[in-house]
Amino acid sequence: MRKYDIPESVIFFEKNIDLSTRLIQILNTYGHKDPLFICGANSYRELGEKVFHQCKSVLNDSEIIIAPEINKELIANDLAQEYLKSQSPIVGIGGGRILDFAKYISFKTDRPFISIPSNAAHDGIFSPISVIAGFSLGSKMPDYLMISLNTLEKAPLISIQAGIGDLIANFTAINDCYISEAFKDKDRKAEIGDCEHSHEVLNQEAINLAYQGSIELIDLIYATQANDEIVTKFTESRLDLLRSSSFLRQFIKSLVLSGMAMYYANNSSPCSGSEHMISHAIDAIYGHGVKAAHGVQVAVASYFIYPQQLEILKKINQTPERIINFEELFTLLKLPKSFQEIGVSSKELDYVLKLAPKTRANKFSILNLKDDRLKISN
Ligand SMILES: [Zn+2]
Repeated sequence: MRKYDIPESVIFFEKNIDLSTRLIQILNTYGHKDPLFICGANSYRELGEKVFHQCKSVLNDSEIIIAPEINKELIANDLAQEYLKSQSPIVGIGGGRILDFAKYISFKTDRPFISIPSNAAHDGIFSPISVIAGFSLGSKMPDYLMISLNTLEKAPLISIQAGIGDLIANFTAINDCYISEAFKDKDRKAEIGDCEHSHEVLNQEAINLAYQGSIELIDLIYATQANDEIVTKFTESRLDLLRSSSFLRQFIKSLVLSGMAMYYANNSSPCSGSEHMISHAIDAIYGHGVKAAHGVQVAVASYFIYPQQLEILKKINQTPERIINFEELFTLLKLPKSFQEIGVSSKELDYVLKLAPKTRANKFSILNLKDDRLKISN
């Protein structure tokens, strides 16, 4: 299988001063002296303030906005006209919410977008999609993704675990792509019933990208575990190795490959299947992020759905390239293995699973199979 690398527009920095220096060079290439910085309040204190002032000393007319609460009214106002005046580049510094907001404004106003994440809790850091107030909106890929390793290593560990969870979800999303493809077959229609779901065109290149991103990260986790000396640290220092520079580089590479997979597929299918629908249903019932971070929710849903997909794939004579030992992986990463652990009871799960396929009504997944193969065991 062809191996993919990340584009040159994804740049890693060990020191923030080097990031600022490179950012000034990039901004200069656009020929504008008035870039707009959009930054989260916490990210401003941790990274944004320094980067902004280092750039401001050179780019006199740059302006910084500490992003307001992003809500539906703001979208209704077409993301506030005040942001739409200039054609100068936009620099987003922050977590997913801020970056999605900045990316979407760049897309709507056709401006260059430079993304500087303060954490990487999901695969949206290099995707053509912005999630704003719970809506997934078509957006653009960042023109540059600048990674401050120094900042990411200080991010809460849960953000890294969640990001890994979003990458684990690729395995179940890809299985859903193959299941969808197999059940296009008219002979199998009886097993689906009279649903009108569309079966998206299988894009093998996009699937390969999503798979490579996830498997490389999982292999690194196992390789780290296999080293005796490191495994002691791995458990004793409570996953602190996930903050190492070498791990973070692969972690970001994997998230970037996921984003590229969505770009090539022209949809989110290689990275978002039934496990994401279950997570969307949990969000719809309890509120976004109330039960757990997005990446943790999709991970626990993947843990639930993966063995059931393997059964279906076996029945239709499709063997996955590798079978992942979710049990071992989740133990190692201290990720929850049951919905109960994130506060969803067996009784509530029944409702979640009924609602899940309706959250993406047109998309086929294992959840559309009409018999009772989905065993509810929480
Ligand atoms: Zn996701």
